[in-house]
Amino acid sequence: MAAQFDIDELHWLLDIVQSIDVGVVVMDRDYRIEVWNSFMENHSGLGSAQANESSLFELFPEIDQSWFTQKVETSVMLGTRAFTIWEQRPNLFRFKSYQPITGLADEMYQNVTILPLRSSTGKTDHVCLIIYDVTGVAVNKRQLESANTKLRELALRDGLTGLLNRRYWESCLEHEFARHQRYDNEVSLVMFDIDHFKKVNDNFGHQAGDEVIRTTARLTEQLARETDFCGRYGGEEFVVLLPDTSLEGAQQFAERLRQSVERQQLDHQGTPLTFTISLGVARLTDAMENYQALIERADKALYQSKEGGRNRTTVAE
Ligand code: GH3
Ligand code: MG
Ligand code: MG
Repeated sequence: MAAQFDIDELHWLLDIVQSIDVGVVVMDRDYRIEVWNSFMENHSGLGSAQANESSLFELFPEIDQSWFTQKVETSVMLGTRAFTIWEQRPNLFRFKSYQPITGLADEMYQNVTILPLRSSTGKTDHVCLIIYDVTGVAVNKRQLESANTKLRELALRDGLTGLLNRRYWESCLEHEFARHQRYDNEVSLVMFDIDHFKKVNDNFGHQAGDEVIRTTARLTEQLARETDFCGRYGGEEFVVLLPDTSLEGAQQFAERLRQSVERQQLDHQGTPLTFTISLGVARLTDAMENYQALIERADKALYQSKEGGRNRTTVAE
């Protein structure tokens, strides 16, 4: 009677293992497959007849053998479960994903539990793998992450030019100001404004004006270093913060930028459109009590450039 009950129970268990929506694999200690449920059949395309008694690593050469055996052997030695998670390794078996959301997941993301199976003699002579399809969770998380990154970018950058927006740029300046107070490094600022920009708008239209602003931003980014902070400070007013740069270095940058803008020629419906900028250069000094003082100094120099006839650079001494 008891034996009959055991066999019934075994049949139920086999039924359950066959029909659950997770992968169940049992291997011997030589990594030869002994149980291969229908989840594994459906996703691998390999029937259990083909899989049984085959080596896991021969069937799935994509599995990193040294990593995986180490993981399994440790689990067997300790007699405890081990896990692999998709965040660390997207999957163990490279199965196709049939998620309706394309683009983000072509392969199934998997979490895997490694379960050492002890026989009645107390010896571990089999290992069970349970494979969970977590593609849905992974795709959601990836989408959320990429949306967050885009939102963060939007919050920091100016929509028209892609340069840092004024608020974020000022927070960078504030940070550089604090760094200067501690390390006494050189920090310079170049501030500039497009000359007679109102005329560009009036003569060529607002669209052309926008194009001039975008072009100016692009030239600025091309000439600036990776470590410089290029920002759009106002309508047609820009700022470039140059950390670890002397006043002379900043002046050279300013002149190069001025010349490159001057040389630039846009085409407006067949008519050439040229424009110029006026610049002010200043450096951070110990006498400055806050970062706003540096902006004021550069702004004053910029104003002098305008007064002096535009299309020029003034260095604040
Ligand atoms: P100055 O040489 O003294 O700088 O003369 P200006 O005409 O450039 O000076 P002003 O600052 O008076 O004019 C700036 C104009 O820029 C006014 C504003 O309508 C225009 N403007 C501001 N932001 C934008 C923008 O995003 N796109 C366009 N097309 N125009 C803008
Ligand atoms: Mg202007
Ligand atoms: Mg202006």
